[in-house]
Amino acid sequence: MATCLFATCRRSAPRSGGCSLLLWMDAQALKALALLVAGWMALPCAPAFGWSNHSVASYRAFEAMPEVAGAAPVRAEPLEAFLKDQERAIETLLARQEVWARATIAAYAPRPDGLAFKAMAGRSDAERRQAFLMALRVSPDSKFALYLQPDPQARLAAATVLPHSAVNALPEQAHSSYRFIAIAAGERVSALAVLASATDEPDYGLDINLWQDSPSPSAKVYGFGPIPFGNPALYFATQAPFHMGFYHQAWLISKAAPFIQRTFPLLRVHQYSGLAALAFQSGHTYWGWRFAGLALHYVQDLTQPYHASLAPGDSTWTMLSANAMAMAGWPRRKEQLIVLLSNRHLALEKYQNQTLLNDARSGQDSAAQLALRSATRDAAYPAWDALYARDVVAREAYAAGAALASAIVAAMPARLVSDPDFDFGVREAEIDLVAEMQRQDPTRIGELDRMLADLLGRFGAHSRNAIRGILKAAARP
Ligand SMILES: [Zn+2]
Repeated sequence: MATCLFATCRRSAPRSGGCSLLLWMDAQALKALALLVAGWMALPCAPAFGWSNHSVASYRAFEAMPEVAGAAPVRAEPLEAFLKDQERAIETLLARQEVWARATIAAYAPRPDGLAFKAMAGRSDAERRQAFLMALRVSPDSKFALYLQPDPQARLAAATVLPHSAVNALPEQAHSSYRFIAIAAGERVSALAVLASATDEPDYGLDINLWQDSPSPSAKVYGFGPIPFGNPALYFATQAPFHMGFYHQAWLISKAAPFIQRTFPLLRVHQYSGLAALAFQSGHTYWGWRFAGLALHYVQDLTQPYHASLAPGDSTWTMLSANAMAMAGWPRRKEQLIVLLSNRHLALEKYQNQTLLNDARSGQDSAAQLALRSATRDAAYPAWDALYARDVVAREAYAAGAALASAIVAAMPARLVSDPDFDFGVREAEIDLVAEMQRQDPTRIGELDRMLADLLGRFGAHSRNAIRGILKAAARP
């Protein structure tokens, strides 16, 4: 973005002094600064999944919301059936969404006109599905299978368990907690189960390898350009720019490194929430809840401070000085900061996932579960709109970053989160974090648990507010 950093942010006034200082800085200084920040972002990043397994948290967030828990069961139908029936309406909707994205999203990469979805009654279901995926610019390998991820808290009737690869295009991880069950076309299923299951689905490969430098033929025509940060050869790193949003970074960082603005969760929220409203309006209620869940995933990711902030707890000065030292031939400090950042991010997600799964299996309400379910703070936020994920959700998460990083360091074993020679990502499968935490001083864990419950309370509130917004849009003529 060539103009003042916050010029496109509707709810954000330019921060005082930001633009005037830019006038003072000459081009060479900005170029040098850009190099410093680029060095920070070019390092390989850890897998970026936001919260681990969104569906477990979503079951708790929606199980007491009347609009979802009280909704009539819906009949499952394949994606192809919805696309065929609503082909013309989808053409109009996606065209309108592209106009909106070009006018609204900072650093947007316009969709090449040749990818626009056009109604063609005579083509096969497979051709129509392919055209739809390419118009959305998601991975052509996306499964969109008919499946549910059951609530770990509920008793399951006999069900056909699907292999991981039938639902998720990514390789199965060791000790995966995923369990997918098959549903048949025409089968009646609960709206809550469809919605909660779909909130996890964007982590199943939908946003993998979409960049020009990704090893995928379709990515070459998508027009997203080269990956803005992370390593394009690491498949899991390529989804990060769709699941993170650094909208509220210090102006100096954002101005010096405009590539960090090339993140697109707002695009995904807009695409899927619009499709959800259309599906509800046209009687394809199953896809109404399914698309709504897909949209929610990106909103929920932005409640994670490590997805809304480049380096929670590290100051702008810390980042820039570490890069300056690296460029001068002393890379150790920068490498240490990156490892610690990644370890804390992964440790938080693992702790949250283990905690919620253990709570669900024990059948006892924990503070985290109560926070997810409680609707008391929902109305305190502004009403849902197309920029809510950026202006409300990511802003709040960004602000929580520094305190959260401190709480992680205080509560978790130092070996896991304060030792730059330890790689949490490599050793993750062998770590029982909850067991290790139980050996810690309980007074030190209390603050982290309180913060985690608070973050999950926001996860629940923003998820419900998004659903209220989608249902309201669907009710409009
Ligand atoms: Zn995600």
